[in-house]
Amino acid sequence: MPGFEVLGEEEKKEILDVLERGVLFRYGFDEQRKGIFKVASFEKAFAEMCGARYALAVSSGTAALKVALAALGVGPGDEVITQGFTFVATWESIIDAGAVPVFAEIDETLCMDPIDLKKKITPKTKAIIPVHMCGAQARIREILAIADQHGIPVIEDTAQSCGGTLDGRYLGTFGKVGTFSFDSVKTITTGEGGMVLTNDEEVYIRASEFHDHGHDHDPTVGRGQEKRRFFGMNYRMMEIQGALGLAQLRKLPQILERQRANQAQLQEAAGSIKNVSFREVPDPEGDTATFFTFFLPTKELALQCKKILTEAGAAPIYFLENAWHYYPEWEHLIEGKSILRTGWPFRDEAGGIRCSYRKDALSQSDSIMSRAITYPIAIQMDNQIPTIRDALNKAAQEL
Ligand SMILES: *Cc1c(COP(=O)(O)O)cnc(C)c1O
Repeated sequence: MPGFEVLGEEEKKEILDVLERGVLFRYGFDEQRKGIFKVASFEKAFAEMCGARYALAVSSGTAALKVALAALGVGPGDEVITQGFTFVATWESIIDAGAVPVFAEIDETLCMDPIDLKKKITPKTKAIIPVHMCGAQARIREILAIADQHGIPVIEDTAQSCGGTLDGRYLGTFGKVGTFSFDSVKTITTGEGGMVLTNDEEVYIRASEFHDHGHDHDPTVGRGQEKRRFFGMNYRMMEIQGALGLAQLRKLPQILERQRANQAQLQEAAGSIKNVSFREVPDPEGDTATFFTFFLPTKELALQCKKILTEAGAAPIYFLENAWHYYPEWEHLIEGKSILRTGWPFRDEAGGIRCSYRKDALSQSDSIMSRAITYPIAIQMDNQIPTIRDALNKAAQEL
């Protein structure tokens, strides 16, 4: 999925544009910048591509989640439901907001199971964060229907599915807010960076103010003269990142085309494995194809398959054992490890248990993950594909 594979002259030219004027800050410096606003232009182009009214660029995908939660007023006393298969950033941002993360199961989409989501909603649930994991759609319509019944806003964590669609509509535009990451290994990259999308003007304004120390961005007064409606933080993106984003965004269609072609080749080869099934993708046309996942009927067969593939020089990802992305392997969460003297957020100020997480809490997800074999899809894979295809053919013969 990495946009870093196609960094080139276009990115250099955009960055030079910034360096030649010497303005790295996204606001102000009106004379010196001579009309060049890279971050603002990136926001505009991104919003237009997705068909959203507002886009706010931020310093990371984690920051995007944090800003989204703040804009929705989520904090202490609240619960936020996400899924047990994601990147740690999703629940870190919930904890950082002062809320308690609650984990729902995934289903064979590798995304939030709407049926389990229903069971996890309580009067304290103040946001739901489904993650469009591994390049493709969550069952976002079903999730939204449930959330709407309870009047709970949905934040779509679209960090891994930039450019993905469902029935032609861009992921990240279904919920109240959509968040994106442009970190160094994402589909398009600005090194570090993220985006917040929304159609709600008040949410956008709150997000924009919060991400810039609370400044109200009053255009009638100079920077430094602005007032504040509430406290904020610094989650701003800088001009060099905006420049990178503009160049990378123009390459997104080609990136997706190449990934889809690569994914199709692996899917074809895996198709001959006995009793294989594929990840359920609600709309295959809108899959960004950053990963390819197939299932074996049992954990034993999956482990056997993994062994054959690894010995054939094409080691896959086995997410069940993945410490970045899967709940039981998040030992700091399960063991409630905190940097703070009080043990917050796992303990309250009096030292009592505030929230705790059992390693075996997500048995449905465990079962799905235990059967899943995954390959990450790159843009340039011509050298690897024959090896992976041969390995998959070998698995087809031996299993
Ligand atoms: C990468 C990622 C993030 C965090 O993005 P950063 O830009 O690295 O902070 C959040 N959620 C998911 C699902 C991710 O994959």
